[in-house]
Amino acid sequence: MNRAVMVNRKWVFTFQEGHAKMVDLLGGKGANLAEMTRAGLAVPPGFTVTTEACLTYFKDGNRLNDVMLHQILMGLAQLEREKGQVFGERDKPLLVSVRSGSVTSMPGMMDTILNVGLNDETVVGISELTGNPRFAFDCYRRLIQMFGHVVMGVESHLFEQQLDRMKTREGVLRDEEISAAGLQQLVQEYKLLVLLKTGKGFPQNVVDQLRLAIEAVFSSWNNARAQVYRRMHRIPDDQGTAVNIQSMVFGNMGETCGTGVVFTRNPSTGENILFGEFLLNAQGEDVVAGIRTPMPIAMLEQVMPDAYDELQRTVKQLEFHYQDIQDIEFTIEHHKLYLLQTRSGKRNAQAALKIAVDLVHEGIITKRQAIERIDPMHLEQLLHRAIREDAQQAVAKGLPASPGAAVGQVALDAETAALWGKEGKRVILVRPETTPEDIEGVLASEGVATLRGGMTSHAAVVARGMGKPCVCGCETIEFLASERGIRIGSQTIHEGDWMTIDGHRGLICLGELELKEPEMTEALMELLAWADEVRTLRILANADHPYDAQVARQYGAEGIGLCRTEHMFFDKERLPIVQRMILAEHTDARRDALAQLLPMQQSDFEGMLEAMNGLPVTIRLLDPPLHEFLPKRKELQERLQHLRGLHGTDQEIAGIEATMKKVEALEEINPMLGQRGCRLGIVYPEVYDMQIEAIFKAAASCLKRGIAVLPEIMIPLVGHVTELKFFRERIEQIASEMLSKKQLQQCAYRVGTMIEVPRAALTAHQIAVHADFFSFGTNDLTQMTLGYSRDDAEGKFMSQYLDRRILAHNPFQVLDEEGVGQLIQIANTTGKSVKPELKAGVCGEHGGDPQSIRFCHAIGLEYVSCSPYRIPLARIAAAQAVIAEERQGVEEAMAESLLAERMHA
Ligand code: PEP
Ligand code: MG
Repeated sequence: MNRAVMVNRKWVFTFQEGHAKMVDLLGGKGANLAEMTRAGLAVPPGFTVTTEACLTYFKDGNRLNDVMLHQILMGLAQLEREKGQVFGERDKPLLVSVRSGSVTSMPGMMDTILNVGLNDETVVGISELTGNPRFAFDCYRRLIQMFGHVVMGVESHLFEQQLDRMKTREGVLRDEEISAAGLQQLVQEYKLLVLLKTGKGFPQNVVDQLRLAIEAVFSSWNNARAQVYRRMHRIPDDQGTAVNIQSMVFGNMGETCGTGVVFTRNPSTGENILFGEFLLNAQGEDVVAGIRTPMPIAMLEQVMPDAYDELQRTVKQLEFHYQDIQDIEFTIEHHKLYLLQTRSGKRNAQAALKIAVDLVHEGIITKRQAIERIDPMHLEQLLHRAIREDAQQAVAKGLPASPGAAVGQVALDAETAALWGKEGKRVILVRPETTPEDIEGVLASEGVATLRGGMTSHAAVVARGMGKPCVCGCETIEFLASERGIRIGSQTIHEGDWMTIDGHRGLICLGELELKEPEMTEALMELLAWADEVRTLRILANADHPYDAQVARQYGAEGIGLCRTEHMFFDKERLPIVQRMILAEHTDARRDALAQLLPMQQSDFEGMLEAMNGLPVTIRLLDPPLHEFLPKRKELQERLQHLRGLHGTDQEIAGIEATMKKVEALEEINPMLGQRGCRLGIVYPEVYDMQIEAIFKAAASCLKRGIAVLPEIMIPLVGHVTELKFFRERIEQIASEMLSKKQLQQCAYRVGTMIEVPRAALTAHQIAVHADFFSFGTNDLTQMTLGYSRDDAEGKFMSQYLDRRILAHNPFQVLDEEGVGQLIQIANTTGKSVKPELKAGVCGEHGGDPQSIRFCHAIGLEYVSCSPYRIPLARIAAAQAVIAEERQGVEEAMAESLLAERMHA
């Protein structure tokens, strides 16, 4: 970079200089501190070093350049003037906190250091100034501990061990009971520990402390847990973090002081009451770190009523200002309230919905804003499970930190949880408390339970964010280090034993309890109705049984977009008939088996048509290779050996041998590209004929009973127009045979095709001539376009591809817009150019993915089809797509008019 630019760049902003819209540069925390300062709220003064400085720090090989350092010192000088204190001066020392603050909130993932500015001299100054040596040395030992760990890399537990030893020596239980002399002694021990472990002394030069602390916070952007968190929440790596340097206020100066975290509404239920915790005589991190179990916020009213009143007033003011639930950190120093941070509160799905809907009712936001606020993926959490009431046998109760119930085997550390998770086991992670280092373990677990920590501890915040059930602060758990187990009351639970937790009620139960499925809430119904007013995409369901069709209807499906008929053949009763049909040597024998299957299929289709009552029901004819219905060769060999060993009858042995021959004959090297889809229907037309007959018989029967029907027959894996033409003619012929003249008039039906072979997409203008609709089978289309086997890729190379960022997303989850998306666009446009009334949509897994849904809307598809439980999510995502498009339109129009104005001028 050229030097003039470097000199001119502003790396440091005081809180008076920033505002809420500067999040990209100042990070969320910095921008909000500035906004609160502007609003005249009691924020201790300070300044922010920008995210750009962080990125330049990395570019320069992890060092602060001279210009940055200069601006930081200027910021410090201004802070000294404001506070009337001097950094490093014994008699009126300025102390500061150094905190991370990224653009997207990443709670607890990066580092913070408090009390920077204390050394052997200033600690004495503080002690004399406050007349409280206990307080002064408590701050100092905390600084050495945090600095020692974060900057100098000494393991935290070594400090904790010394702290515990001091408590034992003094015969006290709690940190705040340690005497001033004890703390003074501890400071010496900590300093020695740092020296022994690092070979360097704890720095006495306060400017060195500040510089090293800022560098360490910048570097913490790249620590392992922050990287995992970013990957999980799709936060870009190149955002960087800002650093906030703020003058300290103290919650640990005695019983008239305290510190806490408060949410303006309950982040678990959305209820409109203050929710949070505080600790008397404690400093910053004590609450969130989960080291001491804090008191509920309501008790502050009893201990310090004035401070509570002010807190209540101020936080509601902030909520109104930001038009959203706020998560606020505060400190009370001798009854005076200070705000240290406000950010939009992380909330679970249930709370997010209730809050968004309530804010609309309270006139604070519009319906459209409410829709935009919902993370569609969050809705999956809403469809959370709970323990069946009659199955509850709780052995312990803790805090209900994140809702939902989970069942799994107990793992006592994050590594074990991560390992077992990878092996496909269901795990409940049980820890004394969780630290952000446990994130991989939490990620791999079904749920989390902890001994210590409150509702705002990391375990709770992280679990809520991931939608994992969590029970915190369950103090009756006793850890048995010697035998890798825990004791709760008289029960001993070993690692690997089964446990069930209920994060909604804070319950821990032993064993594998039965869970019940979730329900739709009133708030969700209301929001979905608002979304339906906005969206233009139709949302259909992938459902294969009448029961699923009913569930889909309840969730708001406007029809069935994909019924995979092969799924109807897998039950115990039908499979042997299907096998007979496949193994038949002659067409007659095959027709015999098919005749038995026909009434079964007919009754399935009737159920589906009835559940949808006139809405479209898209039935796809048989798709998978036939050998999927037959026993595996290895299994047959074993059975044969067994029979021979037991002298089975010749007939039995011949039967198995015949099956084996057929299995061998049907075996394919690459079945996914083999005799499947419509190729099956060409080779065995009688199979498709039976299905088509069953569809029209079902339709006729419904019509007779006065039920409206709209069957749509869909041909899978078409790659060539002649395939579809062949089936269309056959379907029309069967329809006229099956339906009486009157029924034929009443029964509108459609014939369409899946587009899942790239050739079909490229020749869509030919195929559209014979199709009433296109349904993009994006699972197969992704497989065939990228050449990734959908059965193998995820178990083999996909994780590497994602970890190394060769792919930004798994293309089987999020549609590859540039490749697969382009084929869809081509097919949609060229198909409609020859048949404007052609209906087109997506029925692969992408139909339930919000980002892919946005793409489907943007390119002008008519519908998406997804699993019943994803329908609410899809309804919201489709509405969000409209709102995003409108916003983009407004922005473009504004840019255009601005350009026009400039041209004029
Ligand atoms: C598809 O390929 O996207 C599809 C919906 O069909 P299936 O998953 O059954 O192959
Ligand atoms: Mg397919």
